[in-house]
Amino acid sequence: MSSEPLVDIRGLKKYYAAESGFFRQLLGREEQVKAVDDVNFTVAAGETFGIIGESGSGKSTLIETMLQLERPTDGKVIFDGEDICEYSSTELRSFRERAQMIFQDPYETLNPQKTVFQSIAEPLKNFRDMDHEELRTKVKTTLNDVGLNPAEEYIDLFPEQLSGGERQRVCIARAIVLDPDLLVADEPLSMLDVSLQSGILRLLDRLQEEHGFAMVYVTHNLSVVQSVADRIAVMYLGKIVEQGTAEQVVNDPKHPYTRALVACLPTLTGDRERVLLPIPEDDDDRDIPGCQFHPRCPDAMEECSRAVPALDDSQTDRQVACFLHHEVTEADRDEQPSGVGSTAESESRVTSEPQ
Ligand code: SF4
Repeated sequence: MSSEPLVDIRGLKKYYAAESGFFRQLLGREEQVKAVDDVNFTVAAGETFGIIGESGSGKSTLIETMLQLERPTDGKVIFDGEDICEYSSTELRSFRERAQMIFQDPYETLNPQKTVFQSIAEPLKNFRDMDHEELRTKVKTTLNDVGLNPAEEYIDLFPEQLSGGERQRVCIARAIVLDPDLLVADEPLSMLDVSLQSGILRLLDRLQEEHGFAMVYVTHNLSVVQSVADRIAVMYLGKIVEQGTAEQVVNDPKHPYTRALVACLPTLTGDRERVLLPIPEDDDDRDIPGCQFHPRCPDAMEECSRAVPALDDSQTDRQVACFLHHEVTEADRDEQPSGVGSTAESESRVTSEPQ
């Protein structure tokens, strides 16, 4: 097996033009929302990499940018040795065959006008040369694979005739039918009844074991990511603030934000008190000098409002962006938020799409 990672994310950024107030427009300043800000991580073949963050942390934008559903403002997405950010739309087609996604909402994802067969056969028609009988056979095999047995009972149904759990299994079938190398799961349990969630997790685990794909699993639920991921990245306001093995991050969290997330984990004696303040929604509150977590941080020091802690890369398997764990460097002091009053010219690929 190659020692090169399957996915290598380098300095990935996705900035959006923020809605500007009257005086900012008058001054000609273009404000930016840094939905994804200088993110780095790798995913090995066959590995599960978990990304955890609260709503508004930028995790969904990160995976959309990683999959080139959104073009990045800057950075590289190296997939199997090639930077797919440089790909033309024709070249991206071959990438899409190898990287598939499961979305949050199985009710929205499936076309209500199409049968289960039509939905699952669609990617096969796009990428494989198969006649109708071959398509039926492949779709039936895949339905069996995702636990919709016997396949004949499901293949000609419409989404409205399926339960939420069955719809998500159809979505998973469509995602794996091309036998991808990478599966990206964006909160695949969030719309499902709690009683169905563990069944979907066990299914993903078995499919990964049998098919060998790498998985990026995105969630706001630390308990879930702890149970599925080999390694975890914790996101806060567009940046990764801590990264390590699932065991390191959950059992020995270093960053105060990760510690707060772990403190919110349910215990055998009931839910712990939630200690986190909500993530700021206003763009002005988000783009502050210094460490973005300092207004919520119980350990904030004077330096924390002046310098931006970089993700310490001195250890390959464990990284933390916090001055409790590494010295403040000159580079940290230089790294002030350019989004405050920054100009559009400073970024070549800034878009005006909403987050
Ligand atoms: Fe808290 Fe300072 Fe660490 Fe930021 S750098 S998380 S404010 S201690």
